[in-house]
Amino acid sequence: MASTKKTVPTKATKASDISQWDIETDVIVVGFGGAGSCAAIEAADSGAKVHLFEAASAAGGSTALSGGEVYLGGNGGTKIQNMFGFEDSSEDMFNYLMMQHSPQADEDKIRSYVDIAASHFDWLVEKGVPFKESFIDERLVEPITDDCLLYSGNEKAWPEKDHFKPAPRGHAVQKVGMGGGQVLMEQLEKAVIAAGVNIHFDARALSLVVDDNDAVVGLIVRIDGKEVACKARGGVILCAGGFVMNEKMLKQYAPRLDRCNSPIGNPGDTGSGIQMGLSVGGAAINMHEGFSSIPFYPPSTLTYGIFVTDKGQRFINEDAYHGRVGTHLLEQNSERLYLIADIEAYGDYEQMNFMNASVAGTGDTVAELEAELELPQGCLSNTLSLYNDFAAKGEDPMFHKQPEWLRPLEPPYVALDVTPGRGAYMPYFTLGGLDTKPTGEVRGLDGSIIEGLYAAGRTACGVPRRGDGYNSGISIGDATITGRKAGIAAASRLKNS
Ligand SMILES: Cc1cc2nc3c(=O)[nH]c(=O)nc-3n(C[C@H](O)[C@H](O)[C@H](O)COP(=O)(O)OP(=O)(O)OC[C@H]3O[C@@H](n4cnc5c(N)ncnc54)[C@H](O)[C@@H]3O)c2cc1C
Repeated sequence: MASTKKTVPTKATKASDISQWDIETDVIVVGFGGAGSCAAIEAADSGAKVHLFEAASAAGGSTALSGGEVYLGGNGGTKIQNMFGFEDSSEDMFNYLMMQHSPQADEDKIRSYVDIAASHFDWLVEKGVPFKESFIDERLVEPITDDCLLYSGNEKAWPEKDHFKPAPRGHAVQKVGMGGGQVLMEQLEKAVIAAGVNIHFDARALSLVVDDNDAVVGLIVRIDGKEVACKARGGVILCAGGFVMNEKMLKQYAPRLDRCNSPIGNPGDTGSGIQMGLSVGGAAINMHEGFSSIPFYPPSTLTYGIFVTDKGQRFINEDAYHGRVGTHLLEQNSERLYLIADIEAYGDYEQMNFMNASVAGTGDTVAELEAELELPQGCLSNTLSLYNDFAAKGEDPMFHKQPEWLRPLEPPYVALDVTPGRGAYMPYFTLGGLDTKPTGEVRGLDGSIIEGLYAAGRTACGVPRRGDGYNSGISIGDATITGRKAGIAAASRLKNS
């Protein structure tokens, strides 16, 4: 039993203060979401005795709340990519992800992700995760049918499409309607049980335990109101999600994200995993970054519209991924931001939309709309006139929107208010976390390894590092792949010790 006074994630516990270990095991996993389940499965399959602690009363975390899209490909393609004629090269996928996340991209991590990404699809299928053999070539946030393969990022948009052969890499778990993450987690939970992992629900990890050499040797967990001291011979793997639900950490590290209005995640996204890593000398990196979106499609017809500032200026190709557009909205120096559409582009927005942006103005002419939005006279007219002239020729020399989304916008017009903080739905979550090697080993500030400590999923800073380079599926892909690698590494540390 631990003899600590106040046990908190920000303060490590000394092993010398522990009079007796309540649980002794090989590998401890904190968090039963995507990363934690994969870490536990691989550690157990490698022969380690594993204890998994989850603060909630059930498995799932944010992974179970998610759309269940997983970003996979490379190595010639997954089975489903191949079925629909996509031979996805690892070099294309690697270079694409490097471009997406630079300058803070981690080359080693991206390489390690791409190397395993196609076979990871097979691993998930082996664990019982269902994927329909289908390809849906539509501009979607996530399928509402049970379809699988889709373009889920900027593969077909400028500038990426000028550099790499576009390949759809979003693999949505089979489920009619949104929320395939639930099905994914149901199957991973079954696989965790089958692997013989000791599972503890309602078990909150409170503090890491370190020995006299500052190596991590265990964890204090609160179970049934009592503090339980757990020893880990191989290592502790932190898979406790990100910090989007911790207002104080958000203000401290990622204040820009605060301008979005909908933190997405589970209540456990309090950053406790990151805090535990920091408490033993781990480094946290990229803490300012996050995914921030404006899900303006469906209806996909709004892609024909144009985003403008309060000076009537465009700033992005509207066929970009919704996460890139959302990130750019946060970056504009503009009091108001609008999506301007004509009636055809507005389409069935009122029947079906996720974004919930209100109508800021309408006009039978562009001058009327300009006046209603109180824009400086002539600025929107000039923008539209230039845009329309080129769009009629299928060109967009300013922002390179692709010809399939180009046509002149004809009056009457409508303007949707997409200003962050004025009602339009802008979901966000964090992309910063502990600095880890591709194996999941946590690095300290000087780059050295914190012995016995691993992190995966959103507790670590993984492959996704930029809001404007995010693709749907990359967070679950990263969580499940890095979880697996950390599980293998912690189990093999035990064997080598
Ligand atoms: C609505 C929504 C849709 C999304 N759609 C997609 C998508 O389609 N594709 C995609 O790639 N990403 C998507 N994401 C993001 C993605 O789901 C998450 O980033 C990812 O699943 C995180 O996985 P994880 O294993 O790191 O964390 P989680 O799955 O959140 O697991 C962390 C677990 O740790 C537990 N925990 C926290 N603190 C403690 C503690 N101190 N002690 C014990 N347990 C603790 C939590 O309760 C939780 O169960 C979506 C997110 C949301 C919310």
